[in-house]
Amino acid sequence: MEKVEALVKECKTIMSQQRRMQRRSRNLSVSAAMLDNGTYVYGVNIPRSGIICSEMVALGNSLLASPESDMLYIVTLLMHGDETEVVLPCGNCRQNLLYVYPNVSVVRFNNGLYQLEKIRDLLPLAYERK
Ligand SMILES: [Zn+2]
Repeated sequence: MEKVEALVKECKTIMSQQRRMQRRSRNLSVSAAMLDNGTYVYGVNIPRSGIICSEMVALGNSLLASPESDMLYIVTLLMHGDETEVVLPCGNCRQNLLYVYPNVSVVRFNNGLYQLEKIRDLLPLAYERK
């Protein structure tokens, strides 16, 4: 979990930077992912779009940064006002993450601990390529 905590810390740093730059955004999310080559990639949501989640931006950045790498895990922080919490991806993001990185795990915060959940377990009966 040491690497997961480091990833969450990176995500919080970006959240702080984005918070200063996007003061008027009501819902700001930041995702950070670790690839199997040790690289971190990041994404922020597109404010006011309502449809471009930070996970999808991180997914695209991952494909650009290291197309041959696999994504090991991804964490997303969502800011509501002054509160920030670790959140699970929406259904669309779960499907896209599963489609591109079927072995990725998602970080969740449960009972004071970070836990890894396989994306497959968060999306039963998902569409999968053959
Ligand atoms: Zn989403």
